[in-house]
Amino acid sequence: MLEGERDDSGFHPVSRDQQPVSLRLNQCAAASSLVGLRRSFARILRRGETQPVVDVMDKVVSLCKRRGFVFQSSEIYGGINACWDYGPFGVELKRNIKDLWWREMTQLREDIEGLDASVLMHPKVWEASGHVEGFTDPMVDCRECKARFRADMLDEARCPRSGKPVLENCAEFLTEPRAFNLMFKTHHGPVEEESSVVYLRPETAQGIYVNFLNVIGPARQKPPFGIAQIGKAFRNEISPGNFIFRSREFEQMEMQYFIPPGEAEKWYDYWRDQRMAWYGTLGIAEDKLRFHDHGPDELAHYAAQATDIEYLFPFGWKELEGIHNRTDFDLRRHIEYSGKDLSYFDPESKTRFVPYIIETSAGVDRTLLTVLVEAYDEEPERVVMRFHPRVAPVKVGVFPLVKRDGMPDIARRIAQDLKRRFRVFYDQKGAVGRRYRRQDEAGTPYCVTVDSQTLEDDTVTVRDRDTMAQERVPAQGLLEFFGERIK
Ligand code: ATP
Repeated sequence: MLEGERDDSGFHPVSRDQQPVSLRLNQCAAASSLVGLRRSFARILRRGETQPVVDVMDKVVSLCKRRGFVFQSSEIYGGINACWDYGPFGVELKRNIKDLWWREMTQLREDIEGLDASVLMHPKVWEASGHVEGFTDPMVDCRECKARFRADMLDEARCPRSGKPVLENCAEFLTEPRAFNLMFKTHHGPVEEESSVVYLRPETAQGIYVNFLNVIGPARQKPPFGIAQIGKAFRNEISPGNFIFRSREFEQMEMQYFIPPGEAEKWYDYWRDQRMAWYGTLGIAEDKLRFHDHGPDELAHYAAQATDIEYLFPFGWKELEGIHNRTDFDLRRHIEYSGKDLSYFDPESKTRFVPYIIETSAGVDRTLLTVLVEAYDEEPERVVMRFHPRVAPVKVGVFPLVKRDGMPDIARRIAQDLKRRFRVFYDQKGAVGRRYRRQDEAGTPYCVTVDSQTLEDDTVTVRDRDTMAQERVPAQGLLEFFGERIK
């Protein structure tokens, strides 16, 4: 952890509002009225919302470390705040989520193309997008301990020294809010001067807008059509926290859908429904998902309509994904700043227009946290991650009951065969009960055990993670058996 920063591997009850960046500045004035925020903090405490947070989130974090899902970055040096590393199970889980999104958004469609734009872009991109001027959060400093907090998140802030709520204990030491730009700056090339300043992209969307012409021609597409991209984004968040929910380096899965201006509302409604349905396919319970439609006073400067898909985390309802009708704002701005014509001529209707854009912008890490929280379950005898088989990092564990009588050889052969289709974990160490428990914690939906009966009739025991029921299955038919169950 860097000096002066808070340890964010623990949890802080969060009730961050969901307002777009452009509005956060407007909140400076409201935020300086600390009385209102103090009241909302008291309300949260009264509702008792803080209690389960520590409990469930601490357990999920501890499991993530124990089982190799997620670790703090640079841990042997004390860690760096709000940056996370994904271990063996975490990286599989993340890959599954990204693959499912990519499949849904590109492979199963004819109207969406993929893109992988670079993280560093021409600095004018961020002038055109409005980020240089307005990608800011309101920040306050504590004159006493020098800590910094987001002014619009003071109700969840804790003093890094005492651990006590800031609003209740340190309000008199806080400065007036001021704007803090969230973009990370660096230099392009070996000369560190003002003209070489570039930014780590704070969103992947701009890489899509500036490549509109590069994609539409070669892909032989015409509006309505979309461009999808998965990639890293960086934001120098003032108050990161809640594990991987808000970090400074994260991944986004964004799709920008280019449409004729008159069709914006139709496609906005369409993508709203499509995106909500996708979370169901990951095994997220319907009653823990909701829309938060933005009212006129919440809309970002670029949006005519906006909604967030929210999930009920242990620390409250929070945004997973934003869906916006961005009008023709983005392409018009890039036309203005680049001097290039980004309009589209429709040969059928013989009209020229600047496409409107419907954006769907989801966070990989937040989706992963959702999947983790949703899967976590405790029984008297075990902790079990009830991942949907589709997202589970490992699909099948394969064990020999004992390390003799040729059982390891048979088990390895089975594992090798299943690996052609599924992620498999082979384990022959320790008591078989303990091996099952380890796979339960990793969320592996099925385990195959080779035992003495296998030597007689070539059947194996298949154990179901959720019910713990065991059945005998012919070893030869395992690929089909799991193929039926893991789709
Ligand atoms: P928030 O209000 O929570 O900061 P936002 O409205 O600024 O989010 P967008 O700019 O709409 O977020 O980004 C799209 C998605 O990217 C979010 O819905 C979220 O899933 C993800 N995201 C944004 N900021 C972060 C972050 N600091 N850490 C992890 N994921 C993030």
